[in-house]
Amino acid sequence: MAQFSDMITIRGEEYEFDSEMKVVRVYCENCGHANEIECEEVDGELTFFSFSCENCGYFNEFN
Ligand SMILES: [Zn+2]
Repeated sequence: MAQFSDMITIRGEEYEFDSEMKVVRVYCENCGHANEIECEEVDGELTFFSFSCENCGYFNEFN
């Protein structure tokens, strides 16, 4: 289980963050479900991209 004890700022938004597992918690725009999204390193910075909500399937778009 991820432990979201840290915060990370990605694209100007703050997210709850697990610094060991490199996972952010992102709430679905449609249903509010907390999705756990794995971060990727791009140009030395952690970020995440678009994902489908694991609860309702809504496509949450991030670029
Ligand atoms: Zn959803």
